[in-house]
Amino acid sequence: MLTHEYQARDGAHHLHPFTDFKALADQGSRVITHGEGVYIHDSEGYRILDGMAGLWCMNLGYGRRELVEAATAQLEQLPYYNTFFKTTHPPAVRLAEKLCALAPPHIQHVFFTGSGSEANDTVLRMVRRYWALKGRPEKHWVIGRENGYHGSTLAGMSLGGMAPMHGQGGPCVPGIAHIRQPYWFGEGRLDEAHGMSPEAFGQACAAALDDKIRELGAENVAAFIAEPVQGAGGAIMPPESYWPAVKAVLAKYDILLVADEVICGFGRLGEWFGSQHYGLEPDLMPIAKGLSSGYLPIGGVLVGERVAETLIEEGGEFFHGFTYSGHPACAAVALRNLELLEAEGIVDRVRDDLGPYLAERWASLADHPIVGEARSLGLMGALELVADKATGQRFDKSLAAGNLCRDLCFTSGLVMRSVGDTMIIAPPLVIRREEIDELVELARHALDETARRLTRTAQT
Ligand code: PMP
Repeated sequence: MLTHEYQARDGAHHLHPFTDFKALADQGSRVITHGEGVYIHDSEGYRILDGMAGLWCMNLGYGRRELVEAATAQLEQLPYYNTFFKTTHPPAVRLAEKLCALAPPHIQHVFFTGSGSEANDTVLRMVRRYWALKGRPEKHWVIGRENGYHGSTLAGMSLGGMAPMHGQGGPCVPGIAHIRQPYWFGEGRLDEAHGMSPEAFGQACAAALDDKIRELGAENVAAFIAEPVQGAGGAIMPPESYWPAVKAVLAKYDILLVADEVICGFGRLGEWFGSQHYGLEPDLMPIAKGLSSGYLPIGGVLVGERVAETLIEEGGEFFHGFTYSGHPACAAVALRNLELLEAEGIVDRVRDDLGPYLAERWASLADHPIVGEARSLGLMGALELVADKATGQRFDKSLAAGNLCRDLCFTSGLVMRSVGDTMIIAPPLVIRREEIDELVELARHALDETARRLTRTAQT
């Protein structure tokens, strides 16, 4: 089928996620037809380096036969059965065991879901259930962060702090509050007359958590939820001072920590879980995406012993679950994916080789005239676009510099995403050094072209 035929038929019937329907109808969809390794191919015959691993999920890259075979074998054996009503099946048993072997020792249980959003819905239900079983039902507030992302269901978007989503989806789920994000380039360096160091800013953001807890009353607060590194918010690595200070605040008030590992989990930051990079011991860890390298939809919540013991020992039904909780084919693919990540030493390679290599090559983009900051951790990176390198002043919003750069990337053969004027990457973890070189060169080329176009716009 030709591109324009796909576009016409897609436009006639398909409402896309996170999409301006009218703008898409005017423009038509891009049609991706196949993938191999770190590359995707479109219906026009172009090969594009997928710098976003799909939506942060294709950790093993495209075209892995082993995952196809795992799915096929399971679909033939038992395509579906549920895990309700005191029932289980071999793939769910094996995946739960494997996940708990890979997770930090204090985590020995998992609750399966179909996605990351469902995982965070589960988190909200579970932390409230936990405190109710503890005889403290008033401890039901959950604190999240502005510009955090925890999914698009009503609970997911309420836990998240995406203002445009709250604007459309309200009223949000009650009993959820938000504090400021530890985004030094975006907010911290502008604080206190442009003077706050990253370290001081990290402390200030943790102090905001303390303030919010006292405002709500510690006796009313159930949990704090955050991504170890904010992904959708703009690949925001917090200052080093942030997590230790947050941990101390939570310990002081006996509040659960939920580390949303939907993006950071399964090797993205060079550890199995992002929390391990920051030395966190979360009570709950929602997971999805890289759990199956995106081959089939599956998510879950890894549940620490403190919560699991209470849920199990106190008894009483937890009225929560999904038709596809622990879906056999998805679980079989996830298990095979974890085995491959382990057997091929991919997580260690990200930490010891690819992460440092990307860091070095990515940092070279900091010299570019429209880049105010280049940062990366593991295989996640961001570039902050600025109009004035000396002052760090942003481009006028009307120029939509980030969107322009993203579109120019795509036409030159790279998927790089824009969040406002922050450009972000998170390539498949199987990327090779020479492909990292290619990614950086394609990004540089797109930055050059963006700068040229913006200068031209400014002159006319
Ligand atoms: N949490 C985080 C940190 C995410 O990045 C995402 C998805 N981008 C989600 C939750 C929601 O996952 P899903 O889209 O699978 O519902």
